Amino acid sequence: MKNLTLTERLGLVSYRNQAKSNIKPHIQVDISICNSVCPHKCTTYVCPANCYKIDDEGQVFFQVEDCIECGTCMYACDQGAVSWNYPDPEEGRGVTWNFG
Ligand code: SF4
Ligand code: SF4
Repeated sequence: MKNLTLTERLGLVSYRNQAKSNIKPHIQVDISICNSVCPHKCTTYVCPANCYKIDDEGQVFFQVEDCIECGTCMYACDQGAVSWNYPDPEEGRGVTWNFG
């Protein structure tokens, strides 16, 4: 069996409710903290799905759509900017668990 690259593996992740704009995501980030007091912006390089990015002006932004719910940012952020909430699966947005 062929060994898949990380990008290929990430491409196999499936999601629920990603197309609906009014669905509450499982993770929310207070970007105002990222762009004011955060001295290191570490989540912009530890997130395997590149959900945290820095633009040309040095501003951090976050997009939840590609999140694989690995939990890294929840532990990496020491500034209190990341909050997690698992809403009702029928109403939430996130990874569809295929293998349990
Ligand atoms: S470490 Fe926390 S505050 Fe800093 S950029 Fe990442 S999410 Fe934002
Ligand atoms: S849970 Fe993992 S994939 Fe999702 S935003 Fe945080 S670090 Fe990125």
